[in-house]
Amino acid sequence: MFDIKKLAGRNEIRTATILLGFIVLASSIAFVLFKYTENLLKERLQERLISIVSTAATHIDYEDVIKVAEQKDENSLKVLVEQLKEIRDANENLRYAYIMRQTEDPLVLEFIADAETLEPVEVLDQNFDGIIQDEEAAPQPGDPFEIADYPVLRDEAFYHPSVDRDLEEDQWSVQMSAYAPIRNAEGDSIAIIGIDVTVDDFLALTQETFLPFSLFIIFLILLLTLQTFYLVRMWEERVEAMRELDRQKDELLSIVSHQLATPVSSIKWYLEMLDDGDLGELNNDQKEHIAAMRGIGMNMSDLVSMILDVSRIQLGRMKIEKQDLDLNSFFHEIIATIDPKATEKKVEFIKNIPEKMPLAKLDRRYTNMTIENLLSNAVKYTPSGGKVNCDVKIENGNLYVTVKDTGMGIPRAEQDKIFGRMYRASNARNAIDGNGFGLFVAKGAVEAQGGKIWFESEEGKGTTFFVVLPLN
Ligand code: ADP
Repeated sequence: MFDIKKLAGRNEIRTATILLGFIVLASSIAFVLFKYTENLLKERLQERLISIVSTAATHIDYEDVIKVAEQKDENSLKVLVEQLKEIRDANENLRYAYIMRQTEDPLVLEFIADAETLEPVEVLDQNFDGIIQDEEAAPQPGDPFEIADYPVLRDEAFYHPSVDRDLEEDQWSVQMSAYAPIRNAEGDSIAIIGIDVTVDDFLALTQETFLPFSLFIIFLILLLTLQTFYLVRMWEERVEAMRELDRQKDELLSIVSHQLATPVSSIKWYLEMLDDGDLGELNNDQKEHIAAMRGIGMNMSDLVSMILDVSRIQLGRMKIEKQDLDLNSFFHEIIATIDPKATEKKVEFIKNIPEKMPLAKLDRRYTNMTIENLLSNAVKYTPSGGKVNCDVKIENGNLYVTVKDTGMGIPRAEQDKIFGRMYRASNARNAIDGNGFGLFVAKGAVEAQGGKIWFESEEGKGTTFFVVLPLN
């Protein structure tokens, strides 16, 4: 059955899920783009450092390096320090420049010179406290430097120009280091020159690029949110219009059935008068015709009250009036109605109804309508020669009614819809007369009395309907 409210609820959940999906997707795309840009900037910075350090290495005379390393030659040290200072001062952001060589311990290098090696105390005292702390002291020739935590220094720097992948941070700035080998006349690497460059600018730049990305995400999410809300509003308006149409249809059904009820019962009443001879004795032929007309009148009146019930259920105006119900006579009357139909159709009608049943508190009209509808459906949808079983039992304060037939069955794919208003299965639609009101009203009636109704069916084999109703 088409349930607008449920559909609208499901639509809201779907909208929220789509929106969430969009947000996740937009954030992921922006994050990937940001990371990509950051890597690109980092790569460019690394390339620049490699080019600086490689050029610097060509300016260093390897003989000076050897002299300082092996003979502690003062003049050569001065030359090296001057050259390192030039390199340092020629490049903005270049903080440290130094030369180191390998020792017997593969995890320890040794300083040969540093741009600051010969600086006076006033220059080295960076925090101006008059004392040269360890981290302020300039490396002196022979000072060791542990490289266990520097894989690039350990494995690459003495072979080719290279750059640290990770950033180093000290109390003054964040830096990136690059190294290039210093080679002798034979081309052997005898030491390395290293430079440490402050990358605060680079970090600031990366953070700056993050801003447009964030704005892009916010804009995207805003756009998607607006669009989704617009779609939801449109959907809600459409649902509202459909609901209104549905309500108007129910209202119309209710008005028409109410208007029909009075003339139909008047016709029934006049026919009854004619039949009773109130307007003069009728001959047999006339009596026969009047009886046929009364039958038609009864059917019309049943249909009108069924339509009335449908509209009551639709408008939520179904009124259950529970009263004392003698189940014995109740079933007796129903059987008396169904028996002739089954006989006429040549369907075997097997009843299994207890002899004595207690009084129940049920709505007579609705309960009768339900059971009678199930039984007459069973006869209607079962071909001649078939069987209909009606089993009734009382258990645990409940009335159990089972109506089983060997008829055409209900196609599996349509079973979900069979209790829907005016729904008729495809195998019945063009083959057998009907209107699709009965099961809709039966379900409404059973559930309004606190009971349950369901069925099992196999197309071509038969159908079994089950009803449970609390006796009180
Ligand atoms: P109607 O019988 O007037 O069409 P109902 O609401 O009583 O309306 O039943 C709805 C539909 O359910 C029927 O049209 C038919 O397709 C199917 N149906 C109901 N009872 C049976 C049954 N016993 N066997 C097969 N199909 C059934």
